[in-house]
Amino acid sequence: MFIDMINRKRCTRGCIRDCAFCGVRKIEPDFESKSSIKGEIKKRKIVFYDNNFLSNDYIEDILNELIDFKKEKKILWCESQSGFDGRVLKEKPYLGKMLKKAGFRYPRIAWDWGYVQFKEIKEQIDILCEGGYNFKNIYIFMLYNWAIPFEEMEKKRIKCLEWGVQIADCRYRPLDQISDKYNSRKEQTNEDYHIHTEAGWTDALVKQFRKNVRQQNICVRHGFPFYSKDFERKKFREMMRPVKLLATKEEKIRYLEKKGISFWLPDEITYSDGKSRNEKIGQAK
Ligand code: SF4
Repeated sequence: MFIDMINRKRCTRGCIRDCAFCGVRKIEPDFESKSSIKGEIKKRKIVFYDNNFLSNDYIEDILNELIDFKKEKKILWCESQSGFDGRVLKEKPYLGKMLKKAGFRYPRIAWDWGYVQFKEIKEQIDILCEGGYNFKNIYIFMLYNWAIPFEEMEKKRIKCLEWGVQIADCRYRPLDQISDKYNSRKEQTNEDYHIHTEAGWTDALVKQFRKNVRQQNICVRHGFPFYSKDFERKKFREMMRPVKLLATKEEKIRYLEKKGISFWLPDEITYSDGKSRNEKIGQAK
């Protein structure tokens, strides 16, 4: 029912980039842009399925059309299924404001490469914030189980925590892989799904990273300094209130331990044995 109310759209084919892990260039080798979608909007919620929405040669025209639709209340919101290309945002920072005015919600930008890119990624996030977005409604796309090793991915995750943005994690699968029997509840091997052992990934690390991201996103969404399974089961807001009032991390830990509440600290690298190492944000730079 809900799905029927959504207008699925594409304004471009292909992509201007050629990322090593992506199959778009093989499937759609030619890049094409539409200059208008005026006659095509039939519903009030729009999801764009472009590979690289912002790279449209007529992106300003498309966004201006959407801004007019929004003003006229002909549309409620828009989403982009793929992330926005942060390099285009940096070239045209005014697009941040236009996206917001056009009703785009939960914008996502990709951080596919190493931790070293963090300054550039922060600049891209800031463009969206200057456009009117809240940090916690911005998502960073992160490809894991790929060439970036687990520890470096954890440092990237912790950086997102520091910024207060959420993560949209994406498990790498090779382009020629036909079957994928990934099961988050089972121990598995490379026979079940692709594990990128070349970069040191194991089944346990793949699953641990997924878990760390999920738990961290809950912390970011609700402004919690810790994640606890108990928060999911019980009345977590009530349980969190006294913890938030405590001034230091040590006091919070003492309180949680005294109450027998299980907790996880998102600001430390957490390995697949469930243990954290003392590599906090400051040391991860
Ligand atoms: S920018 Fe996105 S769609 Fe384009 S090649 Fe890279 S990953 Fe694929």
